[in-house]
Amino acid sequence: MNDEKKHNIADLLLQTQSMSELLNNIGAYVFSKDLEGKYTYVNSDVAELFKTTVSNVIGKDDSHFFDLEISDELRQNDLNVIRNKICIESEENNVIKSTGKLHTYKTIKKPLLNSQGDVIGLTGISTDITVQKTLEAENRDQKHLLDVILNNVDAYIYMKDSNRYFKYVNSKVAELFGLPAKDIIGKRDIDVIPQEFADHFWQTDKLVFENNEKHIINEALLGADNKMHHYLSIKVPCDVKDNSNTLIGFSTDVTELYQLKEKFKQLANTDELTGLYNRRYFFENAKREFNRAKRHQKALAVISIDVDHFKAINDQYGHPTGDKALIKIAQLITPTIREEDIFARIGGEEFSITLSDTSKEKCQQAAERLRNLLDNNVISLDNNIQIPIKISLGVSIIKASDTSFQDLYARSDIALYKAKSIGRNQVHMIE
Ligand code: GH3
Ligand code: MG
Ligand code: MG
Repeated sequence: MNDEKKHNIADLLLQTQSMSELLNNIGAYVFSKDLEGKYTYVNSDVAELFKTTVSNVIGKDDSHFFDLEISDELRQNDLNVIRNKICIESEENNVIKSTGKLHTYKTIKKPLLNSQGDVIGLTGISTDITVQKTLEAENRDQKHLLDVILNNVDAYIYMKDSNRYFKYVNSKVAELFGLPAKDIIGKRDIDVIPQEFADHFWQTDKLVFENNEKHIINEALLGADNKMHHYLSIKVPCDVKDNSNTLIGFSTDVTELYQLKEKFKQLANTDELTGLYNRRYFFENAKREFNRAKRHQKALAVISIDVDHFKAINDQYGHPTGDKALIKIAQLITPTIREEDIFARIGGEEFSITLSDTSKEKCQQAAERLRNLLDNNVISLDNNIQIPIKISLGVSIIKASDTSFQDLYARSDIALYKAKSIGRNQVHMIE
């Protein structure tokens, strides 16, 4: 052997050695097999996997190392490559005999050809993707669980970014907007709901983004049933992968509760017999009117009304008829009351009215008109009873020394007493 040849062989050996080293450190299982499926090459990873040495693997087929009874996939893939002279890329599930564990591999197998182009075996490279597959399966399970929860919980759940784009909606939101979830996600609120409501929602969405804190608010949206629905919404900023400003919202339909609350509120403000505002509402709102009048130096007046000799009506016709008469009185007066004024039944057969921003003369005229209204109208009840009803009225006008509504109201009461004492069916005014 001449020097040149010796050199070439030495080079070749060096190359093979470094190639072998590379394959042993590639982090994958590399192998070749002959036509009978016997290993002709394995890297050290394969030997390690089989818990033996490289030389112990060479010359043996897979029946020594894999439980082919459980999974025949591997052998079928090998035959497919050899018989059809094709390269295949697949996922294989194999049970290693030495450990009994099931592993999943991503495998590429290629036919091995001789110089004539005949298949003499196959080569392959496999990567263990068991952990990745387990994580994927866990992720899938978790996502499924989350989907089941989010789509079955009795709340509207959504994610929105600071450009008003929906990033997630659960099936209840989709149902509410009347669109499939996929047609809402990726769209802006104003593209899927009427502008007016979208803007209303945006008011608080914006606050969540601006302050980066949780907000709890009441919202309303016209439902498919054409009725206004009320929602209690909790909106929280949330961190997402893409670093965009995102919030997650949970809204619960509280329409029934809202209506109940409104009903209670109304009941708390209403006089049961006449349907007028009650004493509580009158004083609460009259105080507000008084403060406003003081602040803006506007006029405010009170007319207090007491039915004359009402006891006699009860005595003559009975208490239930007296009740009906009170209802009729309320019905007679109500249409004469302006929007901005408060007309209430203070108790018994006593009523009061506030008159905002009205001159002394106009107040006197208004009271006189009411006295006339009752004086000229006989109250007719169902069983042909006709009751002539007269009223006495006391009028008071706000003055600079008044410090509370009570001051103004007390004077209307004194005026009313005066009207009674000077003969009833009268108006008396105290400035
Ligand atoms: P005057 O005011 O003119 O002095 O005589 P009056 O008879 O109206 O005065 P008084 O305050 O003494 O009596 C008011 C009566 O109103 C006594 C009470 O039986 C009657 N009354 C109070 N509340 C109701 C009610 O809710 N229904 C009926 N039917 N009567 C009521
Ligand atoms: Mg009375
Ligand atoms: Mg009376």
